[in-house]
Amino acid sequence: MGVNNLVFLENIEWFDETGAELVHRIPEEGSGEIKYGAQLTVRESQAGIFFYKGKAVGAFGAGRHTLKTGNIPILTKLASLPWAMNSPLRAEVYMVNLKVFPNLKWGTRDPVAFKDSELGLIRLRAFGVFNLQVVQPVLLINTMVGTKNMFSTAEIEEYLNRVIVSRFNDYMGQTLDSILNLPAKYDELSEGLSDRLTKDFGHFGIRLTHLYINAITPPPEVQKAIDDRSRMGVFKDMEKLMQMKAAMAMEKASETGEGGGGMGMGTSLGLMMPAMFAQYFAGSRGEARRQPDADGSRCPECQQPVSMDAKFCPHCGHQQVVFDQCAQCGKNLTPNARFCSRCGHAVEEKPKPKSCVKCGTENLEDSVFCNQCGEKL
Ligand SMILES: [Zn+2]
Ligand SMILES: [Zn+2]
Ligand SMILES: [Zn+2]
Repeated sequence: MGVNNLVFLENIEWFDETGAELVHRIPEEGSGEIKYGAQLTVRESQAGIFFYKGKAVGAFGAGRHTLKTGNIPILTKLASLPWAMNSPLRAEVYMVNLKVFPNLKWGTRDPVAFKDSELGLIRLRAFGVFNLQVVQPVLLINTMVGTKNMFSTAEIEEYLNRVIVSRFNDYMGQTLDSILNLPAKYDELSEGLSDRLTKDFGHFGIRLTHLYINAITPPPEVQKAIDDRSRMGVFKDMEKLMQMKAAMAMEKASETGEGGGGMGMGTSLGLMMPAMFAQYFAGSRGEARRQPDADGSRCPECQQPVSMDAKFCPHCGHQQVVFDQCAQCGKNLTPNARFCSRCGHAVEEKPKPKSCVKCGTENLEDSVFCNQCGEKL
């Protein structure tokens, strides 16, 4: 990247050879000079987002578009100088891939702390897969790029992974006293987690279509302790222990058998959520309720089905492109709103990460339990 980093853009288009890019910035190295009247070509399953002064200000669907002030109305208010024939605009375009991204992996990079009523403070690993689809590309760009300074697909995926792990940790803390009770609580845990993340991802303009917890693994010492304790017979509840052992045995079986899925579990014992549990989660319950029609979308305000190319909801009149959401109450906001019309929260005021009073670790904005030490925040 040179000092003289001027890129003049006349023809803007993007073809994703990898099929794995969620967002792509043009020009790649930052903002460029976009000529008045530049051509923007948006392919099927893409959206072209015009980004100016740290904000997504316009969205373009599939087709060929001529970029000018007239089709980006907010620009008139934001730009101090008129965008005209001989003065290009310093701006960027984000291409957003609107297809479904299947089988993205999530997992704990570092094990999360969990206060277990029977085993003490333990560290758990967990991983699984999820599917996502961007349904509000402007909102995605405004939250990820505009607010969190995340520009690449890798950064965004990394952040979403943090969100999943943090919520997983919260749900473990809230629904479970001991991992020995996990087999009995698994459904409650995965349903709660999925519902919560559906809301979380919605704030980023993303629809979470599936989420699986493939495995929750206590560290080897705990596995050994479970073994030792059972040998000594100190468990209060032998039935729980038998369930736990059964789950572990199933994991062993799945490692040697066809299952496993190459998730890098190694050979250590763990509490695997075998396919039979995952299937249940993917099954009829909840799925039908959450899954919108395959070929349509839903109004972000009233949740009624709306055709993909509608600008306004025929049921409630709400604008279909969401520019921003209230960080406090989640209300969809108009592009230039400074305060939320529902709760009065200042739009500029974004939530701050929560520092743990005990260990000082920064956790996500509204986490409930510290990932590092398991302390309630
Ligand atoms: Zn509506
Ligand atoms: Zn609000
Ligand atoms: Zn902490």
